[in-house]
Amino acid sequence: MTLTPMSKSRTLVVRCPVCDKQVAWSEESPWRPFCSQRCRTIDLGDWLTEKNRVPGEEVPPDESDPLN
Ligand SMILES: [Zn+2]
Repeated sequence: MTLTPMSKSRTLVVRCPVCDKQVAWSEESPWRPFCSQRCRTIDLGDWLTEKNRVPGEEVPPDESDPLN
């Protein structure tokens, strides 16, 4: 029976959504699931850019209101 050091560690490892780097889900990774503040900023920036690019689908006033 062989015990490897890896088998003792039960730290969950996730992948950074931005750079796909492995990030330990622990107190050592304050930016999880991102690997760093930089990636977190990048992801947030992408999200904001995406939102700004698409002004959003404004729901037009319902002109076929049956009560009108
Ligand atoms: Zn990253």
